[in-house]
Amino acid sequence: MKSLLIQGGRLIDPSQGIDEIGSLLIVEGKILWLGRGEVPPPRPDYDVLEAQGLIVCPGFIDLHCHLRQPGYEEKETIASGSRAAARGGFTTICCMPNTNPPLDNQAIIDYVKSMAASEGVVRVLPIGCISKGRKGKELAEMGELVQAGVVAFSDDGKPVMNSRLMRQAMESSLAFGLPITDHCEDTVLTEGGQMNEGIISARLGLQGMPAAAEEITVARDIVLAQLTGARLHIAHTTTEGSVELIRRAKDKGIQVTAEVTPHHLTLTEDKVIGYDTNAKVNPPLRTIQDIQALLQGLKEGVIDAIATDHAPHTEADKLCEFGLAPFGISGLETAFGSLMSLVHNGQLTLSILISKLTCEPARIIGNKYGKLGTLSIGVPADITIFDPNMAWLVETKAFASKGKNTPLAGSMLKGKVMATISQGKLVYRDDSIKVEVRGR
Ligand SMILES: [Zn+2]
Repeated sequence: MKSLLIQGGRLIDPSQGIDEIGSLLIVEGKILWLGRGEVPPPRPDYDVLEAQGLIVCPGFIDLHCHLRQPGYEEKETIASGSRAAARGGFTTICCMPNTNPPLDNQAIIDYVKSMAASEGVVRVLPIGCISKGRKGKELAEMGELVQAGVVAFSDDGKPVMNSRLMRQAMESSLAFGLPITDHCEDTVLTEGGQMNEGIISARLGLQGMPAAAEEITVARDIVLAQLTGARLHIAHTTTEGSVELIRRAKDKGIQVTAEVTPHHLTLTEDKVIGYDTNAKVNPPLRTIQDIQALLQGLKEGVIDAIATDHAPHTEADKLCEFGLAPFGISGLETAFGSLMSLVHNGQLTLSILISKLTCEPARIIGNKYGKLGTLSIGVPADITIFDPNMAWLVETKAFASKGKNTPLAGSMLKGKVMATISQGKLVYRDDSIKVEVRGR
């Protein structure tokens, strides 16, 4: 593998407290050197990527995305989804098991891993089912799934409504030290729900999904995590009440972590006015007050990570009346640009944003799959290079994802991923980024 020198960028790595102008050298796919001084001479023949004016940081890690393969290849494949990830600056993505068949046994996990190895361009880490077939009735073979290499357990898309089963799942997970990731929703309360419950849902005549439906399940899961001592990870946190519950649980020392999506941090339920099916997502877009609480939670460390919940659908899926459209936003390619709006308007520092996309999700995954989310010497070179100030137009036809379903289509974002390096390989670069061959 050819060596690559990234020259003259601003290196930011919250895992090591690094923020300085310097260079970074990749040899044999690993970070060999970084810093301000003179770069040790690489091999006679090497590539140089000029990064003046750009920020160089660890590759982003997404704890939550839907790659749809096997079973729904018209919506996304591991090939298209991993390319979308690369364009979005993600070098590690954890894919949810709500495929068809679901990821509830070794053979399917092996299939995902082999597709990722042959057709993927970034690291794909599968999440296994909590229950067999995601039916919520009996536990999946968790030990077998761990052997196969899953990083967590989840029935995402479907909450585990049966508290007894959730308790058993948590007890079983203890032996493996892996988190149980729950999609928190009391589906009895949200039945028929289309959007957040409130004045706007009433005005639009759409059935609402109350914040309480999420909070009831967050509270139950926290109680069960306390009872069992298991590691609980709350998927896509969206409400002020959930943030408060997680804050109190952490204060008590209960093993809980949480993620929030870019869309729940930047968009409100107002996006649904006009019945745009691309703004239909579960959990639903909430209110400005919820966003303020989520941002506060991120800053305090109550919310650990930002995850996309990338949920691609076909155009035909979303081209229907609001009530019939499936839930989900295609998010890998707009995540970073939309999150940068929070930095530009002073609501989040760049360093916190990067940590929530790198070392913080890495901590939740653990070191079993290599040291992730860091620019430490000797680790596989997973690197994202971005321009914090470049404005760009969201054109869904340019997406690598098959899912063009985003309420951000046609809007301008400020902050763009310019290059992505996955395990030493340049897997995405903007047209303006030049790579030159140097040597003696
Ligand atoms: Zn979910």
